[in-house]
Amino acid sequence: MDESVLNILPQLPSVSRCLGSVRGKELCAQFGEGAAKLELRSVIERLRQDLQSGTRNEVPNMESLLGLVRERLVRLTSPLGRKAINATGVLLHTGLGRAPLAKNALDALAMAGCFSVVQVDLETGERSLREAKIEQMLRELTGCEAATVVNNNAAATFIVLQVLARAKEVIVSRGHLIEIGGSFRMPDVMAQSGALLREVGTTNRTHLHDYDAAIGADTGALMHVHPSNYKIQGFAGTPGLDELCALGRKHGLPVIADLGSGAIVPMDKYGLSDNLTIGEALAMGAALTCSSGDKLICGPQAGIICGQKKWIEQVRKSPFARMFRVGKLTLSALEATLLHYVNGAHEQNIPLYRMLCVTEDELRQRGEKLIGALTNLHRIELALLDDFAYVGGGSLPAQAVPTKIVRLALADKSRKNQFAQELSTALRFCVPPVFCRVKDESLLFDLRSLLPGDLDELTVALKTLVSQKIGA
Ligand SMILES: *Cc1c(COP(=O)(O)O)cnc(C)c1O
Repeated sequence: MDESVLNILPQLPSVSRCLGSVRGKELCAQFGEGAAKLELRSVIERLRQDLQSGTRNEVPNMESLLGLVRERLVRLTSPLGRKAINATGVLLHTGLGRAPLAKNALDALAMAGCFSVVQVDLETGERSLREAKIEQMLRELTGCEAATVVNNNAAATFIVLQVLARAKEVIVSRGHLIEIGGSFRMPDVMAQSGALLREVGTTNRTHLHDYDAAIGADTGALMHVHPSNYKIQGFAGTPGLDELCALGRKHGLPVIADLGSGAIVPMDKYGLSDNLTIGEALAMGAALTCSSGDKLICGPQAGIICGQKKWIEQVRKSPFARMFRVGKLTLSALEATLLHYVNGAHEQNIPLYRMLCVTEDELRQRGEKLIGALTNLHRIELALLDDFAYVGGGSLPAQAVPTKIVRLALADKSRKNQFAQELSTALRFCVPPVFCRVKDESLLFDLRSLLPGDLDELTVALKTLVSQKIGA
């Protein structure tokens, strides 16, 4: 380590010294001593690392150090500090929490946090099957015989494999052996579930006769996986779920469909193809479907399993059902979300569908409004442009939705890049933080992924920060 660093490190104040200062005591009074201590420790640790790595070469004074701590405390302790503005154009942004919930789902969460009727039958006063209402709605919406809910789609896939094919072979195309990220890799999930993976075909092409040839006495199920986050183009193809189901029927074998997003409503209307609804997959003959609650269904994180009653009953009896089960918060928010589909009112109420339904005119108006509010700022260039937004969230890869963006850049070429980097960072530190894209030394603000109210907050944040930065 550099000698100068060794000299600087001891200048870092201790936690107790900071907390003992006047500003430190104020923070303790406002946020609680425990919370203040936790944040202070993280800030000091971060400074120590920055000094050691050379990204920083002096210790900030106590005042600004405690300023950093205050900023983090505001974020940690106030709900306002957690809300974010998504101007990235990625509609289901994994980093920003995938699907934003409908208003009634947010309300349901708050109510479920009190004593609630999530687990009781009002007529008898007895304990009821927690998910009976959700199952009823899913039957209505997808035509399934039965349904159950687990913690996420990874758990759904696991438990379904465990129930249908433990110690048996599951036939899967090599083109479907996906990795979703966060260590969800189909071959590994299968191994852990006790099912034996029988790979067929090749990465780019698998034929129905490949599956057929692999079927034998040890086969427990056929599996179809939606390639949620990649697309193989060119000389490629695997049999559709319908063909696989026909083959399964011929041999008396259940077909598992891991749909990934598993929408309730068809997505073609929004210009998005390559996606089966749960109902379509079941109509084709899938024994069970697995899908995420927080992708195209736009509810809370959950794994939704729909299909034949005999299998769902076995899933419920699996020892893993208890481990993977969801809590009352999830059930309440999911129930509220599904209610919008039952009423055919998802486009009015569910944020993703609202975003998808925003018209070109409305996008233009948003853009003109934003640009109009910023035109007083000199030395920056603004433009309203056509672009593409993406559903994201591991849902529909490479499927673009036309959108409009506002591009903002500094006119001065020599400082353009630095300005873009600094402004995008500063925007992330706003309350609420703003996330946009940076491309070609410019900031891009997508107008489709904004939620109601966001445009005004974005405008204020930009006005303030840009004028600070250019000293206008
Ligand atoms: C997203 C996805 C999963 C994992 O779902 P989580 O709800 O994130 O656990 C599994 N399979 C497919 C095909 C997916 O797209």
